[in-house]
Amino acid sequence: MNNIDEYRSLMSQPQKVVITTHQVPDADALGSSLALSRYLSKLGHQTKVITPTEYPSFLDWLPKPNEVIVFNSENKTICEEQFDAADVIFCLDFSSYHRLQELEKYLKNTSAKVVLIDHHLHPNVIADFEVWQPEAAATAELIYQFIEDMGDKSLIDTHIAEGIYAGLATDTLSFKLGTTTPDAHKIAANLIQLGLDSAKIHRLIYDNNRVEKIKFLGYILQNKLVHLPEFKTAYFIITAEELKRFGMGLGDTEGIVNYALSIENIVLAAIIIERAEYTKLSLRSIAQFPANEVAEKYFQGGGHRNAAGANCAENSQELEKKFLDVLNIYQNQLLNS
Ligand code: 5GP
Ligand code: MN
Repeated sequence: MNNIDEYRSLMSQPQKVVITTHQVPDADALGSSLALSRYLSKLGHQTKVITPTEYPSFLDWLPKPNEVIVFNSENKTICEEQFDAADVIFCLDFSSYHRLQELEKYLKNTSAKVVLIDHHLHPNVIADFEVWQPEAAATAELIYQFIEDMGDKSLIDTHIAEGIYAGLATDTLSFKLGTTTPDAHKIAANLIQLGLDSAKIHRLIYDNNRVEKIKFLGYILQNKLVHLPEFKTAYFIITAEELKRFGMGLGDTEGIVNYALSIENIVLAAIIIERAEYTKLSLRSIAQFPANEVAEKYFQGGGHRNAAGANCAENSQELEKKFLDVLNIYQNQLLNS
């Protein structure tokens, strides 16, 4: 962290802390936020986790030290008051303001000290203190290191360990992505040594599906896979009608894109999903192929080399056409990967 002495002096007194993270928080975003919240509470700070949107229900099991406030049109005032009253605001697992949706303006108008802890490229969030490491496998890795650097490793209890492990395990796709750092493995080992039941966490994250979701997955794999070996690419498109017909909510489409990536010789996998307010594009890639460059340059999104995404204004057909045009641009790079 930069200005670490100033940070220590600021946090030497109990502070009112807001911890926020990106829209549709994933396990890294929510797990890191809850782990940090518990850690800071143990130090005597008053903490609130505020998310810009609902988080997927498959994360309901995460231990919540304090109530998580999910921003919506009814609790606008409460959220605004929390941001106004905060002495310190932690921004976790996002690097650009727009991923906060309506919370963006509260952060931009704040007089609180801002701490950014993140592993995305090109941060544009203005912060007083930063723990920014784009090479980190997950924000959760940085949370662990931060607690350790503060000399507080002894405060890591099961709840903190579970939040950190959830982030590490999911951002690395169970420690199998090329972005998995040696530190990610070392931290996982340390957490297990501290008593974390890692098998339980894997079960809660991956083997906790509603049967309807598994049937939906069967339908998608059977009917919606587009395989383009000439581009070493495979993708799915899921319409709003299909989500409705199968009763699929936020989070039920999580992980489907990885089935496209698991096909032999695939370098790039994508999923296009019609959501209520935008069309979601998720990209996954193998090895050096830069999914983040594709997301940033052509779809105003972002992410990491092997996992990136964007929320797009186009409908799914227009987005598919644009995606196919982009594949042409990258054809040589895809074939040579
Ligand atoms: P997912 O496909 O799981 O939603 O996202 C994969 C990665 O891409 C996430 O780690 C996130 O960092 C990034 N990402 C997803 N959507 C967006 C977006 O709309 N904007 C930016 N900048 N990054 C995104
Ligand atoms: Mn992350």
